[in-house]
Amino acid sequence: MTMTGASSLSIAQKAHAQAELEGLGGHTSAVLQRHVYIETMGCQMNVYDTERMQEALASAGYVPTSEVERADLAIVNTCSVRDKVEHKVTSLLGVWKKLKEFNPDLVLGMAGCVAQQEGQKLLDKLPHLDLVVGPDQIAQLPSLVEARRAQNQRQSATAFVHRREYTFPEPVPPSDGRVTSMVTVMKGCNKVCSFCIVPFTRGREVSKPAADVVREVQLLVDAGVREVTLLGQNVNSYGKDRDGEVDFAELIHQVAEIDGLERIRFTTSHPMDCTDALIEAFATCKKLMPFFHLPIQSGSPAVLAGMRRHHGVDDYLEKVDKLRRIAPHVALSTDLIVGFPGETLDDFEMTMQLLERVRYATLYSFMYSARPGTRAAELKDDVPLAEKKRRLQRLQAVQDALTAEWLAGFHGRAVEVLFEGPSRLHEAGPQSKLSQVRESRGLQVMGRTPENLKVNVAVDTPEQLAALTGRLGRVRIDLVGQNSLGGQLI
Ligand code: SF4
Repeated sequence: MTMTGASSLSIAQKAHAQAELEGLGGHTSAVLQRHVYIETMGCQMNVYDTERMQEALASAGYVPTSEVERADLAIVNTCSVRDKVEHKVTSLLGVWKKLKEFNPDLVLGMAGCVAQQEGQKLLDKLPHLDLVVGPDQIAQLPSLVEARRAQNQRQSATAFVHRREYTFPEPVPPSDGRVTSMVTVMKGCNKVCSFCIVPFTRGREVSKPAADVVREVQLLVDAGVREVTLLGQNVNSYGKDRDGEVDFAELIHQVAEIDGLERIRFTTSHPMDCTDALIEAFATCKKLMPFFHLPIQSGSPAVLAGMRRHHGVDDYLEKVDKLRRIAPHVALSTDLIVGFPGETLDDFEMTMQLLERVRYATLYSFMYSARPGTRAAELKDDVPLAEKKRRLQRLQAVQDALTAEWLAGFHGRAVEVLFEGPSRLHEAGPQSKLSQVRESRGLQVMGRTPENLKVNVAVDTPEQLAALTGRLGRVRIDLVGQNSLGGQLI
């Protein structure tokens, strides 16, 4: 890794340099601007938590940087749902340890699910780690950092706040010109899926009062946001901890009342809590976008029982059928795990049959790996790795064909797109077909279809791009990539 000049400056040197820049001749009472770099792993909830950390730290004078070499504070916001992520965290902290050799004032922190799960043990294991903060303690982050600096003591704050005392962070209006935003409507999960660590790292369900959700969305819309994604670990059990005064379907309808808001999405759901009212909302609420991520995890009733999912395949399919009857335009996606302990070939074949039956637009599929602390980790992990890989490849090959068929259906169609800003050329990779086409087409604006597919559209000038951003437009699709589309403004 190359070190920039900034990385080798101590805080005192930075203060002096900043004071000089401000013509203060070394008068150190000038407000020192510090930089925070946050590496976010895992789900959208972690992305949201990263924003909350940035907001909390802004009050202490920290501005975000995208270059870790410039940071005075570097935090990795972790996920422990998949074990590969844990390996990534360890190697990332190894790299950051080297940065500390150049900048001893650099504070290294860990947040998110691994931090919550391991707490103080991480500080014992990683001597270069300065602080550990759990999701319920994000508001304490600025004081933890300052305590680390002032008292030179490493800090760990991972206590859960009891659900009756838990308060959600006050929303802050975004100033970055974003068109889409996430809104946490609840935290935690009361389910006990045997493979999942979330109930242990995020605690019990707490729903944000509906009036607060509506107020937050209004604040976002006033700041230019046109689309919100309502977030929760199990978002459709929203309101149950508040005696169901407003359930999730009703919350969607209340949010949809806000003028200026164009689109609503939500994630993620448990089939057991998918009510008829929620399914009907896809037909009755025009602002609710036609994309529904409804995880099933396996097509085998026996495996679902082992997973303690508390739903079967048949009741799941009943909900899918009802949705297809009343809102056939809705694209479905799901999560699937292959090689769960005890999964036989017959069980796996049931999952394959489920794929053909539901014909998901997209899905997330994983090989089972035990998460320490979960019920499933006590079971014998008896499907050999090679067999897990074989099953995963088979499943993904079938799904790739289904996804390609779904995407091909967009070719030639006119779709409504909410434009978000400049297209990110690098995301497609230099060799990809889309990237080559975009290179040849020049300036591109990126938007999304109602089904949440990215669409890249050529524009003539930066002014046209700016004028489109935040607006809905109709696009004729003339290019279908592996995960995204291209088209022309109509
Ligand atoms: S519902 Fe989702 S978050 Fe909750 S325990 Fe099950 S898999 Fe984990």
